[in-house]
Amino acid sequence: MNIVLLGAPGAGKGTQASKLEQKYNLLHISTGDIFRANIKGGTPIGKLAKSYIDAGQLVPDEVTCDIVKDRLTWQDAANGYMLDGFPRNLFQAEKLDEFAHIDLCVNISVEFSLLMDRICGRRVCSCGESYHISTLGGRTTCAKCGQPLYQRADDNPETVQARLNTYNTQTAPLIDYYKKQGKLVTVVSGEGSPDEVFVQICKEIDNFKAQQ
Ligand code: ADP
Ligand code: ZN
Repeated sequence: MNIVLLGAPGAGKGTQASKLEQKYNLLHISTGDIFRANIKGGTPIGKLAKSYIDAGQLVPDEVTCDIVKDRLTWQDAANGYMLDGFPRNLFQAEKLDEFAHIDLCVNISVEFSLLMDRICGRRVCSCGESYHISTLGGRTTCAKCGQPLYQRADDNPETVQARLNTYNTQTAPLIDYYKKQGKLVTVVSGEGSPDEVFVQICKEIDNFKAQQ
C-alpha cells in the first residue's frame, strides 16, 4: 500500500509517519529528510537545496522528482511506502502519477493558528523523532535514542511564515487533486495528542484495506 501524507508544515506528518512505519511496516520517505541529509553531507544536491530551504521555498521540481523516482525503485520500497513532503505542488503530483501508484492520500488538517507555535517550539533528533518544548520539561536529549536534540535551521518565524505561504499557494490545491481521484481521507489534528490523530489514521487505513 502506497500512501501520500499531506498537510501543512507542522501538521505532524513526520510524527505520524514514524508511528505508521512501525505498525504497518511501510517505508517512510521524507523529501525534507533527504535534503537535510544531503546538506549535512555537503553533496551537490544539498548545496542546491539549502538556499531554497532557508528561504522557505520549494526546491526545483526536476531535482525533487528525480530523487523520489529513484528512491521508489529501491527494494525496500516494494512492500509499500508513505511519502511525507512529496508531492508539494500540482506538477509533482502529476509526475508522481507517472511513475508510481498511490492508493490513499491522508490529509492531516490543522487550524492554521496552531502551526507557528508548533514549528517554532519543535526540537528534533537525527533519528527522526521530534518533540515540542512544552512536553520536554527541560530535557535536551532524545527519549528514544539518547542523542542531543536540536532545532531545525528553517524552524524560525520568518522562514515558517514563508513555508506556510508556500503551502497555501502551492500544496493546498493537492487536497482537491486527490479528492477528484477518490483517494482522499482527511483527519483532524487539534490540540489533542498525536496518539489521537494516529487512531484516526489507522481507522482510515484499515477501512481502505478492508475494501480491497
Ligand atoms: P515541513 O513540512 O515542516 O515544512 P519538510 O522537512 O517536509 O518540512 O521540508 C523542509 C523544506 O524542504 C521545505 O520547506 C522545502 O524547501 C524542501 N522540500 C521538502 N520537500 C519538498 C518537495 N517535495 N518539493 C520541493 N521542496 C521540498
Ligand atoms: Zn533520537
